[in-house]
Parts: sequence; structure tokens; C-alpha cells
Amino acid sequence: MKKNKGKKINKIYVYILGLVVITVLVLFLSAKRTQEEPLKEENVAKDLVPVISLSEEGTTVLAVGEEYIPRATALDNEDGDLTGKIKVSGIDTNKPGKYEAILEVKDSAGNMATAKQNIIVRNELTNGLPVLMYHFFYDNITYYGEDSNWLNINDFEEQLKYLTENEYYFPTWDEVDNFIDGKIKLPEKSVVLTVDDGDASFFDLAVPMLQKYKVPATIFVISEWYGWRYNADMKYVIFESHSHSMHESGANGKGRMVNWSKEKIVEDLKLSSNTLGGANIYCYPFGHYNDTAIEALKETGYKMAFTIVGGRVSAGYNKYTLPRVRVSAGNSLNYFASSVK
Ligand SMILES: [Zn+2]
Repeated sequence: MKKNKGKKINKIYVYILGLVVITVLVLFLSAKRTQEEPLKEENVAKDLVPVISLSEEGTTVLAVGEEYIPRATALDNEDGDLTGKIKVSGIDTNKPGKYEAILEVKDSAGNMATAKQNIIVRNELTNGLPVLMYHFFYDNITYYGEDSNWLNINDFEEQLKYLTENEYYFPTWDEVDNFIDGKIKLPEKSVVLTVDDGDASFFDLAVPMLQKYKVPATIFVISEWYGWRYNADMKYVIFESHSHSMHESGANGKGRMVNWSKEKIVEDLKLSSNTLGGANIYCYPFGHYNDTAIEALKETGYKMAFTIVGGRVSAGYNKYTLPRVRVSAGNSLNYFASSVK
């Protein structure tokens, strides 16, 4: 009996061992298969879901009645660029309000991608676009205010805070161009920031503020002096021209731009544009210009030029004698608010 029992137990062990070996083998083989399967599928071209990338962070602001062109691109591995096929829903551009637009795109295989963009539709700007003019900045540590062209960096921060808290819109130069041509409307609370010259106080003090508040500003750079600071990747900074070497007085005490020949001005403007990565917006040194200066700008592909005359920009204005709104030191935040209202 005892012997029999021992044999029986041995037999059970053999069975269990066999089962374990088979289970391990089955598991091993199936694991191997799942490892191989994705590899096999990769060899067969697979149409993936298209990818929508928003080109604008945060909220987009539109004037009522303006068409919403998605600030986004759509790419598909099979169909390529599907940007033109993005469909938009969830927004009524004829009614002022806050919307969450839904962007959808489908590829030829029927794969659908969606993205969302926050949009504010606002009444149109009717009292002109303020293009602000700044110069230098100080903090009383590394830079000191010398005259009213020097703005305390804390005041600048207050202004940027005001603009962002009140959801101001910062149109691109293309939009300003189209606005002057009467092709588009701009929303209320639109503003453009420009800074003249391109000295170190802008880069050291103001640029970090622009990046902190995500507010874009154009720096009109005297490229012979400060062109070496040009950096295409500097976020929220747009480099444009304040001439290459015409920011000096000519024979009659007026700026070189109203003294030099057209050929000489053209040469200077080209050099400045090349130094600044293809600048095509201009700011007259000392605000001095004449017909020759304007001809030279047109000939070299500059699309707009700013003076230092006070005022706002409206549709139909001469693009080569555009006014600006000066921001001087010592004015209150209320004063600033009224100048961009
Ligand atoms: Zn200047």
C-alpha cells in the first residue's frame, strides 16, 4: 500500500511538471508573438490620426463680423498638409462673446483629430489703433532714468499687467497692414508696442517682462550699433529697422535720412534689413523724413514707416507717415489706460 501510494504521488508530480512545462512554453510563445506583431504591422503603411498644432498660445481675439481663420496647422502622415481642411464649430463671429472653438480635421482614411481654441469676439475698434512708442528702461540698480524717455521697469510691468488682465489684443504687422488697407477690422482693445533704438536696457530689463506676460513688442534697432543683438528665436520680440547708420545728424543738423542721396539711403536700408533677418517695418531716426526717404523705403520693400508724430493709426492712412502714442516716464497707470482705451 505504501509503495503504491509513493508511485501514485510520483505520477502526479510528473503530470504537474508536464503541465508547468507546457504552460511556460505556451506563455513564452505567445509573448514572442505579441512582440513580433507590432513590428509586422509597422512594415505595412498605416494612416495615423492627423496632428493639429495651435500656432497661437492662449486666447485669440476677433472683431465682430471678422472671419475666424484657425491659428493652427494640421499634418497627416499620409495626406500631408490638411490645414485647409480644418473645420471650425462652436463659435459665432457675428456675436460678441467668449467662445471655445472646436477645430476638426479628417484624413482620407477617416481618422479624425480635434483641438480647442479660446476665442473672444469683440466690437470693432473704431477710434484708431494705438502704436505705443517706448525708448529705454531703468531699475535704479544697473540703469538709471536720465530723462522722460527712460521708463521705470516697475511701471512697464504694471502696464503689461494692465494689458493682459484686460485681455488686450496684439495684432501682427500683417494684420496692421490689412487693417490700414481696410481689408480687416481689428477688435476693440488692440494695441501694438514698439521700442526705439535697441539699447541694452531693453534687452536686460524689458524683454524678461514681455516674456513673463507673453506680450509681443517690436524693437526698432539701429542695426549698425545694436544689430549684433538680433536673435530670430527671442520670444515675444520682433526685430525691425531704425536704419543701419542713419541715426546721426547730417549737414543741416537734421537726420542723415533727409540729407543723403536715394542710392545711399537704399544701400543703408538694405544693409539694415539683412542685418535684422529681413526687416520690412521702419522707424525714422529722429522722426525725420522726406519724399526721397519714402521712395527709398518703397524701393527696398519696407511696407510701413513710423514717425514720432502723436496719434493713432486708422484705415486709409499713408503707410509711410504713421503716427504713434508716446509713453513717457512719470505718467500714472490711469493715464496709460486712457491712452490705449
Ligand atoms: Zn531713435
